[in-house]
Amino acid sequence: MNCSEAATLIAAYADGEIDGLRSLLLKRHLLGCAGCAASYRSMLELRARIRAEVPYFVASPALHARVRATVGAVRASMPPRSRPTSDRWRWLTGGVLAGCTASVFAWMLGTTVLAWRANEDFAVAAVATHVRATLSDHMIEVASSDRHTVKPWLSARLDYSPPVQDLANEGFALIGGRLDYLERRPVATLVYRYRQHTIDVFVRPESAHAPPPALRTVRGFHVAHASGSGMDWIAVSDVSADVLFPFVQRLARTDGAP
Ligand SMILES: [Zn+2]
Repeated sequence: MNCSEAATLIAAYADGEIDGLRSLLLKRHLLGCAGCAASYRSMLELRARIRAEVPYFVASPALHARVRATVGAVRASMPPRSRPTSDRWRWLTGGVLAGCTASVFAWMLGTTVLAWRANEDFAVAAVATHVRATLSDHMIEVASSDRHTVKPWLSARLDYSPPVQDLANEGFALIGGRLDYLERRPVATLVYRYRQHTIDVFVRPESAHAPPPALRTVRGFHVAHASGSGMDWIAVSDVSADVLFPFVQRLARTDGAP
């Protein structure tokens, strides 16, 4: 394995995303190559920093209110208790009802927090991938403003073919692409230039899961999401949100893309 082969794998290796022979070959290369070993170490440090700075979640008053309202609605929809025949029976049904309410409450809180976490983790992962590529000088593997060069390059490395557009006449110049990893899966990454800003756009087949939120901000970077043409489009950049969001929606429309 040479240095340029190693460079394309180091990020995935740091996340434990490659295994088998490639992982073994890379491990061997890192032992003998000070340059690649240093970039691997800096990637681990960056990952640790990002993990350490993920905000701790405290349920907001609005979430409390939503959970209470749901529990109230469930309670109201339960059939009224029949007249108890003894104190013991009243105590028993009361206990069962309280148990149901507590279970519903725990389930509601659990799923709400899990959904929030998944969205937050997704935005953090997208920003981490973008920052990692920027810092490791690994933004572009295929440098071209020609979509007929970038698209086949990506298709040859993935099991799907992302639509590629150059929107230079709208201010967003395609400057290239790369293969990156998002949520442990390889993802087509298009790189655009807008004024002095670089925009990463991750394109992957639309998933059956709930889509990520349209807009999120993580450590000053904006993450904008749109769906279209059977794909999920996720743009990450330090450009302002009112530029990024319309841009990702425009890409998802893919009018005239091959
Ligand atoms: Zn090397």
